[in-house]
Amino acid sequence: MTETRTALVTGAAGFIGYFTCLRLLKDGFRVIGIDSLSDYYDPELKRRRQQGLLQHQSFSVVNEPIETPGLLADLFARHAPDIVVHLAAQAGVRYSIDNPRSYLESNLVGTFELLEAARWNPPQHMLLASTSSAYGANTEMPYRETMKADHQMSFYAATKKATEAMAHSYAHLYDLPVTMFRFFTVYGPWGRPDMALFKFTKAMLNGEAIDVYNNGEMMRDFTYVEDLVEAVRRLIDAPPIRVDRPQDVDANDSLSPVAPWRIVNIGNSQPVQLGDMIGAIEEALGIKAERNLMPMQPGDVPATWADAELLQSLTGYVPQTDIREGVSRFVTWYRDYYRT
Ligand code: NAD
Repeated sequence: MTETRTALVTGAAGFIGYFTCLRLLKDGFRVIGIDSLSDYYDPELKRRRQQGLLQHQSFSVVNEPIETPGLLADLFARHAPDIVVHLAAQAGVRYSIDNPRSYLESNLVGTFELLEAARWNPPQHMLLASTSSAYGANTEMPYRETMKADHQMSFYAATKKATEAMAHSYAHLYDLPVTMFRFFTVYGPWGRPDMALFKFTKAMLNGEAIDVYNNGEMMRDFTYVEDLVEAVRRLIDAPPIRVDRPQDVDANDSLSPVAPWRIVNIGNSQPVQLGDMIGAIEEALGIKAERNLMPMQPGDVPATWADAELLQSLTGYVPQTDIREGVSRFVTWYRDYYRT
C-alpha cells in the first residue's frame, strides 16, 4: 500500500527523531520535521543527521524552537498532519539537576503549544515521548503502565510526567487520540554524546578512565534504537479509542479508557547491569576499561525494567536486539564517524 499521509515529527534532527523520520520516509510518508538544533550536545551531529534526511524529497524541516508562539499552530493549519510524533525535548537526567530552567520552555511550553495546535487542527493520532524516569521512586519491577508513577527523582522526569498529564487532559477534553511512549534507555548508532555508551567509548579510545556510577551495579533496560522505532511505527497505526467508562474502572488507572489516550512502555524487557554493558564495549573495542568507581548520582534510580506485555498485545512486537550486538553496531558507527 502506498502511503499518502503526512507526519509531523518534532525533534527530527535528534537521535530518535532521525531514525523515526528515516523509517516514516521509507514507508512513504511525507515528513515535516521541526528541530531547533539546540546546543545541549554537538549541533554538528544534529546537522549531519538532518542533512541525511534532506536527501529525501518528501522531507522538509523547520529549524525553530517548538515553543515559538504560533509556530506549531501555523504548521498544523497549513499542513494538517495526519500523524504527529513529538520527540523534541530538553533531555538528560543529570543535566536537569544544575539546569532546571532549560526544561520549562522545551518540555512544558513546547508541549503546550503542540497540544493547542492539535486542538484546532486535530491529527488522526498524536504520539508523545515520555520516559521510564516517569516511574519515579518505584522499586517494584518490572515497571507496568498501570502502576502508580509518583515521586519523580529529577526535574527532567517531573517535566515529562507533567506532559503526560497535559496530554491526557487534551485527549479527554478534545477527543484527541494520544499515545504516550515511556522509552527505556535508548542506544545505537548516531546516539547521544551525553549518554554512557558514547562517553565510555570515547574515553576508552582516548585511553582515559571512565566514571562508573553505583559501582557498575545499576541495571538499565537498554533498548536498541531501530527496535524502538519498529515499535513506534506499529503504534502509529494503533490509536487509542474512547469508550464509555465502565463502572468498575479506577479513575487513577493510567489505562482507564475515559479518553482516547494510553501510555505504552517501549523497552527490551531484559535489564542489563552497567558492568555488562561496559564489558560489551570492551569486547567490541578490544580495549580494557580503566574504571573510576563512583557513588550513585542524585536523580538516578538503581534499576529500570519495562513490562512489555501491553506493547506486545498492541503491536505483536517487543524489542529484542541483544546488548552485545547493539553495542557492536554503535562502536562500528562511532569509529567510522569519528575516523578513529
Ligand atoms: P535528542 O536530544 O537527541 O533529540 C531531541 C531533539 O529535539 C534535539 O535534536 C534537539 O535539538 C531538539 N529540541 C530540543 N528542544 C527543542 C525545542 N524547544 N524546539 C525544537 N527542537 C528542540 O534526544 P533523543 O534521545 O532523541 O530523545 C527524543 C525524545 O525521547 C525526548 O523527548 C526524550 O526526552 C525522550 N527519551 C529519550 C530516551 C533515550 O534514552 N534517548 C529515553 C527516554 C525518553
